[in-house]
Amino acid sequence: MIDTHCHLDYLDDPAQARGELGLTAMVCIGASVEHAKKAVALAELYPDVYATAGLHPTDVAEQDSPETRTTLEQLSVHPRVVGIGETGLDDYWHQDQQEVQRAAFAWHIDLARRRDLPVIIHTRDRPGQERASLECAAMIREAGYRRGIVHCCNGHAGLLRAALDTGWYISFAGNLTYKTALAIQEAAQYTPADRLLVETDAPFLAPVPKRGKPNRPGYVRYTLDFLAQLRGVDSEELEAITDHNARTVYWKMQGNSMP
Ligand SMILES: [Zn+2]
Repeated sequence: MIDTHCHLDYLDDPAQARGELGLTAMVCIGASVEHAKKAVALAELYPDVYATAGLHPTDVAEQDSPETRTTLEQLSVHPRVVGIGETGLDDYWHQDQQEVQRAAFAWHIDLARRRDLPVIIHTRDRPGQERASLECAAMIREAGYRRGIVHCCNGHAGLLRAALDTGWYISFAGNLTYKTALAIQEAAQYTPADRLLVETDAPFLAPVPKRGKPNRPGYVRYTLDFLAQLRGVDSEELEAITDHNARTVYWKMQGNSMP
């Protein structure tokens, strides 16, 4: 079982957390220069941990700079780095940063293309709005880069359609299991099996029955079980599918050994 998106370095005890509940591998997302360095350090230390390099949209306004981009470019050639991101658009915390977030997002796609790695995107709207989702959808279509992951799928139909049409994978996090997450559950039923991924986004968004507690990479199994039930398939069968998809999108073109 693979956790395709976690922030292992945010946890108090990464070494302990990685060994729990029998994961084969986990991808530790480097969401800033500081965190990408930590993710790479963990990936160098543990054979089941892989890293990504990127700058989270909520940190773009403060941290994007030529130096930041140079460092991320350097980190992205590390043999344990398997993706670029997370990037994307976030309206939830800031609505006055659309321009800089868009520019950083476009740069991440370009870097992913040059490195032949998947780009991982985060999309968050203001409640009752859909601007970030619509714009992410438009940017995915416009870039036409066929290797990407919609992380923590928010259930927006237009974004889902654009990502699927472009060949991207759709990743479901612990919030899939929440009672009110009807749009996300609908998206999880609609997504073709060969594009499905599961993730924790640990330490955030712990799935039921761990909701409210700090999330752990091993809890990805609860999200997988929920997804299997939702789609009316066997958990073991779905696990084989989502692990295969994770290997395809993250490790296909890599020289390093697959988990
Ligand atoms: Zn994340």
